[in-house]
Amino acid sequence: MLNPKLDVRIDIVTGLVAPAEQRPSPNHDTRPPGCAIDLLVLHGISLPPGTFGGPWVDRLFNNRLDPDAHPYFQEIAHLRVSCHLLVDREGALIQYVPLHRRAWHAGRSTHRGRSDCNDFSIGVELEGTDEQPYTEAQYRVLDRLLPALVTAYPAITADRIVGHCDIAPDRKTDPGPCFDWRRVRQALNRDRAGYSERPAGKAD
Ligand SMILES: [Zn+2]
Repeated sequence: MLNPKLDVRIDIVTGLVAPAEQRPSPNHDTRPPGCAIDLLVLHGISLPPGTFGGPWVDRLFNNRLDPDAHPYFQEIAHLRVSCHLLVDREGALIQYVPLHRRAWHAGRSTHRGRSDCNDFSIGVELEGTDEQPYTEAQYRVLDRLLPALVTAYPAITADRIVGHCDIAPDRKTDPGPCFDWRRVRQALNRDRAGYSERPAGKAD
């Protein structure tokens, strides 16, 4: 269990987040040249849907999901998808793709007229469903992770932290109506007020 004072550090050269556990996914590629990272997309995922704690999400992101393990997996086992970071129900933080690389989380998507949000976004998955509240442990991690991300990538302004449902509204509902956006935004504002000195020379 990660402690509430989790110290999140981001290396923008390697794209790695400490203290995330690294479980590299092969599902990523290069962002378009000169494309700044200026969007953060929050997702919810559980496999099979509504079930928590199994190995299946991890296997999906590593192309090792057995289509015979559950009927639903036959629909998705062929997908090549990933995210940058996952926060499980217990608040464990796992990294699948370095932040400067393009992870494959958004699919067909549009944000303010720009399509293909994977090009310019960071994707964070929360283990969860539309029907159940996310856990306190998950919010505690977000309290630390999101301020660290917007500090490392200052083009991600508060209004550029969105749900998958916002960029693919015809296909996606995650992270769902139970996600407490107000809490997350309050944490960001609180943290930002504490940043009297933000680091200079931020990279994109
Ligand atoms: Zn999603």
